[in-house]
Amino acid sequence: MATNLSLEETCTVCKGSGKIGTELCQNCQGTGTALTAEGKKIVDFLRNSIRTSEH
Ligand SMILES: [Zn+2]
Repeated sequence: MATNLSLEETCTVCKGSGKIGTELCQNCQGTGTALTAEGKKIVDFLRNSIRTSEH
């Protein structure tokens, strides 16, 4: 049973530092973590829910 579903993982572009040299990492917007495929699904679902409830 998979209980360790992770929604975020260390950003592979900046290796978790949040920066590429002196520039903010565009992949993770400087957070150092990036959403996994599962995380993106959930975020999309939440965004759609919010959009629906606003109308
Ligand atoms: Zn990054």
